Amino acid sequence: MNRNEMRLEGYRRLIDISHDLASTLDLDILLNRIVSAASDLTEAEAASILLYDEAARQLYFQAATNLDQPTMRGLAVPLDGSIAGWIVVNRKPACIPDVKADSRHFASIEKQVHITTKSLLGVPLITKDKVVGVLEVINKQHADFTDDDVELLQVLGSQAAVAIENARLFHQSDLIAEFVHELRTPLASIGTATYLLLRPEMSQEQRQSMIHNIHSETLRLNTLASSFLDLARLESGRVQYKLSCFNLAALLAECMEIMQSKADECHITMELEIPPDFPEVKADRDKIKQVVLNLLSNGIKYNCQNGRVNMLVGLEGKEWKLSVYDTGTGIPIKALPHLFQKFYRVQASEGKVAGTGLGLSICKQIVSGHGGTIEVESKYRHGATFTIHIPLN
Ligand code: ADP
Repeated sequence: MNRNEMRLEGYRRLIDISHDLASTLDLDILLNRIVSAASDLTEAEAASILLYDEAARQLYFQAATNLDQPTMRGLAVPLDGSIAGWIVVNRKPACIPDVKADSRHFASIEKQVHITTKSLLGVPLITKDKVVGVLEVINKQHADFTDDDVELLQVLGSQAAVAIENARLFHQSDLIAEFVHELRTPLASIGTATYLLLRPEMSQEQRQSMIHNIHSETLRLNTLASSFLDLARLESGRVQYKLSCFNLAALLAECMEIMQSKADECHITMELEIPPDFPEVKADRDKIKQVVLNLLSNGIKYNCQNGRVNMLVGLEGKEWKLSVYDTGTGIPIKALPHLFQKFYRVQASEGKVAGTGLGLSICKQIVSGHGGTIEVESKYRHGATFTIHIPLN
């Protein structure tokens, strides 16, 4: 093929790709399609997308053809002192034949991703005059990146930016619509209670009960708002996982201590079984703590008087696992497939036990952000067991 034919072929493929991108509103799928299209079009060894976090003034890897999710989660790139940062600030493409000789190169990334960057081409992703990120390809096979590659990647980049923005807006409006729907019940109850409080015929006892109602609904709104924000942040992919090595037994003991007064209130005993020589695990300690607290809290909330909540820790291949077992009401079989959906609550517990239906969705996001899995086993009226599996490294 001569140069003109190659160009035409490139544009033909680009048209196919843009149809594909315009029809995808799932952000993860979309980003993966963009990176594989970028490496295909430019015959590059690997391609990646870094999204820009304006508040933190840094970029973070969000999709790459050569990196898995857990590796990417920990990779942030500063705005100053990186080629991607230069692209964001200058809003221009950068085509660099020898990255090692370029002072802007953020060299420390190579240790983490185990790939040597020789040549690099990057373009800014700009939509509505806002830079949302950078699309990069590295190491063109058998040659240097050409002007045609720059042009192709720029066209792909501008379509990708619009598709990313659309997916984000769609997702936000979806989530917000569900959130607003969930606000209606507590707001209606507060509205009714205040209306009744204003009526002179209410007895002192009735007033007390209404004030109590307003108080508990306000607490519920508060929890709903912070859980919603947590989940929205996790789902947007903007959460940075701060990995460290830590002692799991100490973390679990800390969680039990936090939940102790709630367990005492409900007459529940908690127990922990962990082998004494259990190795340190590598994960985001605060986020794992959030998962454990949520599972313990559910184990207590959905338990019976004088029940038990046990935590059992073990190793399985290259993973560690934690099971939280309770002796409570259990979960009906038909509810099991919906348990990790946002705002889902088993009907029998609605109205009896306070909750938002967001806790398990948050757990699932955090666990899969670590490259792990969460599963549930339960027999109705015979308790439930939630188990998380997380890679040791
Ligand atoms: P919340 O507890 O705030 O409602 P979750 O997302 O943590 O939200 O849990 C979703 C639903 O799953 C709960 O409303 C409850 O019906 C059910 N559930 C969770 N954990 C348990 C458990 N240990 N035993 C029985 N049901 C549970």
